[in-house]
Amino acid sequence: METAAFPGRNRPCSLDIVVPCYNEEEVLPETVRRLTDLLDRLIRDGRITSDSRILFVDDGSRDRTWSLIEDLAKSDPKVGGVKLSRNRGHQNALLAGLFTAQAEIVVSVDADLQDDIEVIRGMLDAYRAGADVVYGVREDRSSDRLFKRATAKAFYRLMDMLGVESVYNHADFRLMSRRAVEAAKEFHEVNLFLRGIVPLIGFASAIVYYTRSERYAGVSKYPFKRMLGLALNAITSFSVVPLRLITVTGFVVFSLSIAMVAWTLWIRFFSAEAVPGWASTLIPIYFLGGIQILSIGIIGEYLGKVYQETKARPRYIIEKII
Ligand code: UDP
Ligand code: MG
Repeated sequence: METAAFPGRNRPCSLDIVVPCYNEEEVLPETVRRLTDLLDRLIRDGRITSDSRILFVDDGSRDRTWSLIEDLAKSDPKVGGVKLSRNRGHQNALLAGLFTAQAEIVVSVDADLQDDIEVIRGMLDAYRAGADVVYGVREDRSSDRLFKRATAKAFYRLMDMLGVESVYNHADFRLMSRRAVEAAKEFHEVNLFLRGIVPLIGFASAIVYYTRSERYAGVSKYPFKRMLGLALNAITSFSVVPLRLITVTGFVVFSLSIAMVAWTLWIRFFSAEAVPGWASTLIPIYFLGGIQILSIGIIGEYLGKVYQETKARPRYIIEKII
C-alpha cells in the first residue's frame, strides 16, 4: 500500500502491545504464547521491527500475575512489565502501559484473549494507510452473556443520547500511533474514560472488525458494580446533559406551579368553596421534595468530579519497570 502522504509508514515500525492484567495467572501463559507467536510472525514478514515488545501492566494483582511476568521478562527480551503499586482499575492500568510504551505504534489488548489478536495485522495495514487510531470493533457479541450484551447495548445507546462521541461496540482493543499517544498525554483529567478521550484526539481513524470469543480462562474482572462505575464515570466526565435536564425539569415544575397558583387564587377569590383540600397542599410538597432531592443528587455527582479533579492526584504510581 503506497501512500504519498505517509512515506515513513511503509517501512517496518516498532510495535508495543500493552496488556493490562488483574489477577490473570490462569490466562497469562497462553496470552504470552500467542502474542509472542504473533510478534515473531509479524517480524518475519517484515511488518514490524525486531525490538517490538509485549508490555504487561500488573494492576495490583493479588495472585501470581507479577511473578509470572517477571519470569517471562527474564527469559524473553520481547516481554516487559510495569507493576502498579495497587489496583487502580482497567482504565488506569491501560494508561500506565500506553504512557510507558516507547514504540512507534502501541496496541492495547485485554489479557483474557477475548479479542482476536490476528486482526492486529489489519490494524497495521490501516496504520500504514494513514490512520493514527484504529479501533477494534466486535462484530457480534454472541459469546457474551445476555445480561452483559443488554447492558452494553443500553450503555452505548445512552452515551449516544447524551452526546458523547464513542465507537459502538469498541472496547479498548485499539492501535494508536506515537503522536496519538502523545496527544492523549495532554488530557490531564483524573477520571479518565479512554474510549471517550481517543475520539477527541482527532487524527485519521479506521475500524477493523473481529468476532469476540469467550474468555480463555479465569473469570471476568468487571462485575456489574464496576461496569456501572465505568458508565457513570463516562457520562459525568463527558456530558453536561444531566445538568441541562435539571434546567428543563426546573422549567416544567415552574410552569406547573404558576398554573397551580393561578388555580388557587381563582378558588380563593371567585368560588364559594371553603378550605382547599389537603391534596393540593400535600402533592406539591411531595412532588417538589422529590424533584429537589433528585436535582441535588445530580449536582452532587458533578461536584464530586470537580472535587476530584482539583486535587489532581496521580492516576497511577509505577513501582517497577522492567
Ligand atoms: N483489568 C485490570 N484491572 C482491573 C480489572 C480488569 O487491569 O481492575 C484487566 C483484566 O485483567 C483484563 C481487562 O482489564 O485484561 C478486561 O477485563 P475483563 O476481561 O475481566 O473484562 P470483561 O471482558 O469481562 O468486560
Ligand atoms: Mg474480557
